[in-house]
Order: sequence, then C-alpha cells, then structure tokens
Amino acid sequence: MKRKLRNEKSRIHKHKNMDIDSSFTLDQWVETLEYFDNSCAYCGKTVELTQDHFIPVSKGGKYIKGNVIPACLFCNVDKGTKTDSEFVRWYSRQLFYSKSRLTKLSKFLKDHSTARSQI
Ligand SMILES: [Zn+2]
Repeated sequence: MKRKLRNEKSRIHKHKNMDIDSSFTLDQWVETLEYFDNSCAYCGKTVELTQDHFIPVSKGGKYIKGNVIPACLFCNVDKGTKTDSEFVRWYSRQLFYSKSRLTKLSKFLKDHSTARSQI
C-alpha cells in the first residue's frame, strides 16, 4: 500500500526569537547600574560599561535582571564564561579584587534568585 504524500509548498517561517525569559528592560538596567554605582561590578572602574551575563547564555543564563551585570570590557572578556566557583577563583586572583565588591555582587545575585547563580 502506497502512502500518498501531499506536495506541500515549503513555507519559510522567519520567527523572531521571542524568548519570554529575556525580559530585561532599560529601567532595570538603570537600576542595576545604580546598585553598582555606575561602575564595573568586578573592578570598580567607571569606564564605558558593557552588559555581562553573569551566567553566560551558552550555560543557560538569561537576559533578565539579576543576570545582567555591568562590567568594563576588560572584565567582561577576561571573566568569559566563568560562573560561581570558577568566577570566585578568577576574581580572587585579580589585582582589583575587592571583598566588599564581591559581597555586593553576591547580595545582588541572591536578591534576584531567578538568575540561579550563587557565589
Ligand atoms: Zn572591570
């Protein structure tokens, strides 16, 4: 018995990737910047800041408040994909290591538990 295959025109769907977990707004970014005194959360520099995913997208990190951390370009690149214990090891080796900044960052991550990171 032969199955009839319907010849469907292939339709190209170009879905815009609407990720409901990506709900970071400009207001939330401003709040985040204020919390970190408009400086890099890692080294404390007040240079042009980038948005660092504390848990990188490649490891399931979302674009949400609590996972987006202000970082200078150097820290953003040098931190790379390190998270949690790897991050703490990396951070404690830096010349700009600051216990108070680490505590501040740790509190921020805990206050936004949706980010699922613990340091
Ligand atoms: Zn920095």
